[in-house]
Formats: sequence, C-alpha cells, structure tokens
Amino acid sequence: MAEFVDVILPVPLPGTFTYALPPQLQSAAEAGCRIVVPFGAKKTAVGLIVRIHDNQPKGIKVKDAIEVVDASPIIFPHQLVFWRWLSSYYLCHLGEVYKAALPGPMKKKKVHRGSRSSQEEQSLRLSAQTLPLSQSQGDEAILFGGQDALDLGELPSLSSAQSSALASIHNQWEKHPVCLLHGVTSSGKTEIYIHLIAEAIKSGKQVLYLLPEIVLTTQLTDRLRRVFGHRLGIYHSKYSDRQREDVWLRQLSDTPYDIIVGVRSSIFLPFDRLGLVIVDEEHEVTFKQQDPAPRYHARNAAIMLASRAGARTLLGTATPSFESYFNARTGKYGLVTLTERYGQVRLPEIEVVDVSEMKRKKLMKGIFSPRLLEAIREALQAHEQVILFQNRRGYAPMMECDICGWVPSCPHCDVRLTYHRRNRLVTCHYCGFSSQIPTECPSCGNTHLRQRGFGTERIEAEIAEMFPEASVARMDLDTTRTRTAYESIISDFEHEKTDILVGTQMVTKGLDFGRVSLVGILDADTMLLQPDFRAYERAYQMMAQVAGRAGRRQSQGRVILQTRQAALPLIAQVTEGNYDAMYAEQMEERRAFAYPPFVRLIVVYVKHRQADIADHLIIEATKALRQLFGSRVLGPDEPVVSRVSGLFIRKAIVKLESKIPISKAHLMLMDMRTSLLADKTFSSAHIYFDVDPL
Ligand SMILES: [Zn+2]
Ligand SMILES: [Zn+2]
Repeated sequence: MAEFVDVILPVPLPGTFTYALPPQLQSAAEAGCRIVVPFGAKKTAVGLIVRIHDNQPKGIKVKDAIEVVDASPIIFPHQLVFWRWLSSYYLCHLGEVYKAALPGPMKKKKVHRGSRSSQEEQSLRLSAQTLPLSQSQGDEAILFGGQDALDLGELPSLSSAQSSALASIHNQWEKHPVCLLHGVTSSGKTEIYIHLIAEAIKSGKQVLYLLPEIVLTTQLTDRLRRVFGHRLGIYHSKYSDRQREDVWLRQLSDTPYDIIVGVRSSIFLPFDRLGLVIVDEEHEVTFKQQDPAPRYHARNAAIMLASRAGARTLLGTATPSFESYFNARTGKYGLVTLTERYGQVRLPEIEVVDVSEMKRKKLMKGIFSPRLLEAIREALQAHEQVILFQNRRGYAPMMECDICGWVPSCPHCDVRLTYHRRNRLVTCHYCGFSSQIPTECPSCGNTHLRQRGFGTERIEAEIAEMFPEASVARMDLDTTRTRTAYESIISDFEHEKTDILVGTQMVTKGLDFGRVSLVGILDADTMLLQPDFRAYERAYQMMAQVAGRAGRRQSQGRVILQTRQAALPLIAQVTEGNYDAMYAEQMEERRAFAYPPFVRLIVVYVKHRQADIADHLIIEATKALRQLFGSRVLGPDEPVVSRVSGLFIRKAIVKLESKIPISKAHLMLMDMRTSLLADKTFSSAHIYFDVDPL
C-alpha cells in the first residue's frame, strides 16, 4: 500500500499538501521532518511533514516526494499545535506561520542526514562562541555541559521592595498563571527576573525571556551572562540566519540552552520543558508583527505558549498596555506593583513649557525654549548627559511651497516626503522611495521652498551648532540600520563619549544610562495629535518611559516637556506620574465608544493595483461582513495612508464583544475571503486580516 504525507509549504495558500512517498523514503519519513517536494512549474520546495497516512486522495494525481531532509524531527509535536493556533487566531495560513517560524536557511537548503556529525558539532561550537559579541568565556569544555549546578554566589542582592515583589509574584502565581509586574522606571525589575530565572533553572525548567529588539544589547546580555554563563542563548533578528539556525538546532540537542533571551520571533524556538516566560516592556508595540502574516502579538502568543506548556508568565513594565492592565485589574492576571526606584532615587521632576505662550512672547529659539537651552547648558557644565526626544526622524516632515502650497509627495504612496538634509534627499518612510531635494516648485516656479516641522536630524544639527563643545549623537531608524551601529551609539553614550543623545522612541526603551540628568521632550503634540484611539495611551507611555531615563543611579533628574497643549489633563498625568488617572480617564472613552479592551477589533484589509477594484471589493466585503456581524461592522474606509508601493488599500473593521466565540467568527471571516476571491473580478486582489491591531 502506498504511503502519503501531508506537508506544510512556506506559501500563503490554505491547508496542507499531499504527496506520495516512494518506497525508498518510507522508512525515513517522520512527522516533524522536512521533506523536498515538487512544487509549482519545475520547482521544488522544502516542506514540513505533519502527517503520514495511507488515504489515497480522491480525484487528484498526487506527485512523489523527492527527499527526506532530516534524520529526526526539527520541531516538537506541541509546536505544530501552537502553529495551528496562531494560524487560526491570527487568520492566516499555516504556511505563513511555518515561514515566519523557521530561520531562513532551514526552509531552503538541506542539512546533513544521519546523526549529528563531528563537523556539525564543531560548527555549533564555533557559532556558540561567535554569537554574543562579548562572550569571551566560550570555554568549549563547559559549552555543552549545561547540566552542572547553578552557582547562586552570582545572584544580585535584592532590596526589601524587590524581595517583597518577588514573594508577591509567587503568591499571585498560585492563583493566576500570568502576573503583571507594574514597576516604575528604574525600580530594578531585571534583578527580580534574574532571581525568577535562577529558580526556574534550579527546578529543571527552561525560560524564555522576551524583550524588544532595541533593549537586547550587550549591556543586558553581559549582565545575564555573568550569572547564567553558557546556559544563556541569544536569539536576535539582526543575527545571521546561520546563527539563528544554530540556536534552533541547539534547542533540539541533548544540551539545549536553559534560557533564551530573544526578540519577537523567539516564541517559535523549540522548548521541551518550558517553565517560565518573561515579557519585559510588555507594552511595546514592536511585539506586534505588522507585515507580513502572521500578524501576531508576541506577548499574547507567548502567554498562549506558556499556558500550553503549563508554564508561568511574568509581564513587566513601568507603563502597562491597557489590555494587560485591564486583565490585571479584573482578576484575570495577577498584579504586583513596585513603586519605589532602586536605591531610592527619586522620580524625575517634570517641568512643562507652554510653547504657544513662548511663541507669543517671541521667546522660542527655533524649536528650543529658553528653559530647555538653559537646562542643557547647566547639565553640560556639570558634566552630565542629556537625552532629547522627538518621535520623528529626518530633518523636516515636509516641505512646502509658501506661494501655491505644493508639497512633494511619494509617487507610489499617499504620503508626504520627509526632508533628509545629510544625504540631500526627500524620502518616503513607507516604501523607501527617495529623490533629490526639489530646488523649485514645479507648479509655480517659486524657489523658496519652506521646511515645516522638525525631526531628529534637525534637532541634532541645531543643537550641535548651539553647543559646539558638546558631542552629539543621534539614534533613530536612519542611524541604526545594523546591529553594530546601534550597539556603538549605546556604548558611546554609556561610556560618556557622547554628551547629548537625540533620538526617536528608540531612546525611550528600557536602556539604563548612569549620568543622564536631563531629558528634553521637544514636541509632545505630534504624539497627541495622532488619529488613533490609542494616541494618549501611547503618548503617556513614551513620555513616562523617556522621562524615566533621567536620574538613574544618582540624584533626581529633570525633564523639560515642550507642548502647545499645556492645559491638557494628560500633560498633568505625565508630570505627576499618575498612570492610574490616565488609565481611568481613557478607559471611560474606550467604554463609551466601544474600543479595546472592551471589544476585540479585527481589521479587514483589501489591496489592489487599481483604485476602482479596491473600492468595489471593500464595498462587497463590507456587505458580506454586515450579513455576518450586523452593526458590529465599521466601514468601508480608507486607512490614513491609503496607497503604499503602488497598491491601493481599503479597510473595514469588525468590533466583537468579548463574549462572542472568537474561533467561530474567524471561520466565518476565512470563508468570506474565500468566496470573495473566487469572483474573477477580484482574483488578483489581496484580502488579509489584522486581529487585535495596534
Ligand atoms: Zn508653488
Ligand atoms: Zn512611498
């Protein structure tokens, strides 16, 4: 009897694919192994076997598989269950999850068959040595001896506030598998994590420690490595594919890492005895993958992963996401609060500067208030460091002809081009298009084009001019394209080679600098004016986080906050550090207008090269959605940026009350997509979903 295999392929198509197993492959094939199969015209693909059976598919000519790649499975069976959950919850195909899960080369090239060769052992050893930039203790003798006792001499000592938080976390875990640790900035959450990790390892469990990419620096990994040594594996998106493949294979070996500290995608790594998941900076939006599918939230997926493994989860942050805080306040999660900074350093004093008033009195020096300039001068004189925050990169967000109002915009997207002075270009931040800076207005010939607004590049340029004695650096997407680039910006600042660091929200993340006495928030208004129901929550988080960089490990820091909306309650909430007041006020609005966390949102997007087809399709889709979900549907609508890279984007939103079974709604949506795309008019269109969008 012929045997068959069902295979997942890394393609955005529904379901699995069935192939016949020729006799010579029958003994080698095993669920969880990769297999080379013919796919598409003349091509082959590397898929993953999910099932072996002898049910001849009816009415289909089944092709023969070509070669089994692995001698043993490269995933644990429970990972496949997790992938299936991701694909059904986030409304995408299993192939898309497979593609996101495996490091690049594992989906393309073949690896050696048979038991792991000495050559492979050697390569693992080498990669383990080269992985962390500063792992000098790559002692081969201990590299694979992961089972030796953990030396507890190395654990950091805890303050009494930290010790009682640690005890409370254990208490909470008795009743709730997930606990939120709400600790003010600089309260020493990392020391608590280190204790929890050590406890988990001592009881023979593995730990996944997730954090935003920008925080995964040598500053942190060196600290963890001092305690956990070779038990620690690092999974960074800026590591090479090969390095990530090595971490994956190591997790399948007899001596897997006990702790993985990693970014979003480390939720896909194999763990066979996971006992603890820590999600640090849990409010971070970068935990959500935007494009391509699966558009998963790594925090939420990690909670699911932990729950399936019977593991505990700790979410840590100084500024919780509303979703997590809501769950903690309503008893779904445990809640532990840490209100005291480590070493009893006081929270910074935040001073608000009313920019409108300063302008009226003609006191602003360009984008700087006299108060901010004076504070910078004082900090520099005292040999202290300064962080200047503006959540916009580039020199100026737009140029404009001040006679006819012409604005340079992207030919492929409906966005204005940002002026970048250093490379003399105007650039699209959506598709990357750039062109020479226009010297005259193409519609009226005016040669005086005005720059409007300001980004980090302009702050850097102006501050360097005003304080020529200071050394100024900038940290934003443009200056941190590589891992080494941002490591060196952070390291220079840490070693006080830089006096003033200008940056976007990257500087707000949980980085720990010792000599920052002043933080300047240049323009709170760009954050407050975002057309998004989360704008105030985000603005609060960013301002509280960046303020928290001031005054660490020394005396109280100072923050100067420039805004035109000084009377807004949110500004007072930031200056008072009153998260609860901000939460209470914003939650009233969320409740009144039915927004998360009171409902779940699913955005249905359509994309097409022609605007009329995109419009037609979203109208049809919205009709179909109304039949399924009635008045819970909003739209059709255009997103804020309604054309990207030449594709027109339209959307509709489904708001689901939390009592509606989510899996049923998801099935209905998937069916709707299939039937709409079956219509010839729409065959070249894309329909995709963003579940719990951020
Ligand atoms: Zn003009
Ligand atoms: Zn563009």
